[in-house]
Amino acid sequence: MSAPPKTEPIFDKIALIGIGLIGGSIARDARKRGLARHIVAATRSAETAAKANELKLADHCGTDLAAAVKDADLVIVCTPVGACGAATKAIASSLKPGCIVSDVGSVKQAVIADMKPHIPAGVHFVPAHPVAGTEYSGPEAAILDLFQGRGCILTPLPGVDTAAADRLEAFWKALGSEVDRMDPAHHDRILAITSHLPHLIAYTIVGTADDLGGHLNSEVLKYAAGGFRDFTRIAASDPTMWRDVFLNNKEAVLEVLARFQEDLFYLQRAIRWGEGDKLFDLFSRTREIRRALIHLHQA
Ligand code: NAP
Repeated sequence: MSAPPKTEPIFDKIALIGIGLIGGSIARDARKRGLARHIVAATRSAETAAKANELKLADHCGTDLAAAVKDADLVIVCTPVGACGAATKAIASSLKPGCIVSDVGSVKQAVIADMKPHIPAGVHFVPAHPVAGTEYSGPEAAILDLFQGRGCILTPLPGVDTAAADRLEAFWKALGSEVDRMDPAHHDRILAITSHLPHLIAYTIVGTADDLGGHLNSEVLKYAAGGFRDFTRIAASDPTMWRDVFLNNKEAVLEVLARFQEDLFYLQRAIRWGEGDKLFDLFSRTREIRRALIHLHQA
């Protein structure tokens, strides 16, 4: 793939707090596209910092979160959802007045509730969620063009500085994302059905297959091609990240889960009573959804 065109820097200094799959990919992409003059990062462990430095993801990666954000115009918290509040607290007193603080969390309401109390006056808080990723994690998982052609949802709060939100939007667009803005509660409901429930189902199926044990287990692995393999990919996603997602989007996930269970019982009944029409109708409808997705270049 040819290198993306370099543009004028949108920010002088970007600081990334957390440098795994998402933080590292932002660093790689922002550098390649010349979106900042300086990109620094900080993470919790010395091991991850050393790996990020070895991979040259940012100009420098250390373990002092507060030092990393000094003089930064844009700070993006790229830790698991459950760590966003503590990370924001740790950097709060070092934030430059007028800078933008954002995040990449897969849940918005809980992350906003955790981060907002620590944002000093004069700093612009603009939450965001790039809807792009893989099942890999850590700095080695960071890849170029991860956000190209993928959605990025901004959930700016009422009263936010519009210039700050526009600048963050311009940044994500420069990374290749298609940016939408929405209310945080709406974001959490949409993601509960499109992302969180599918992950829960994958974790369940793979766990159930593993519980079957014995020779059945080895046959499950041997004949994994029949659909099971796709679930194992999703179920290989980072345990910390996904634990935090479910604990922090509890209400929306439980709501779609209840609905899903009803629909599952409907199918269970249709199978038990040989109601092939019901099965055929649903499977035809879902096939159309897949075709519509392909049409939207999302599949
Ligand atoms: P990741 O690869 O596991 O990286 C997480 C990073 O956060 C690591 O650098 C880790 O540092 C650091 N970290 C963890 N706890 C921390 C703490 N308490 N203080 C400071 N740093 C800490 O995770 P990721 O996949 O990039 O996910 C990051 C965020 O992006 C999550 O909020 C997730 O919801 C969101 N997201 C993920 C995806 C996806 O597909 N993975 C997609 C969209 C959004 P150490 O290694 O040093 O502990």
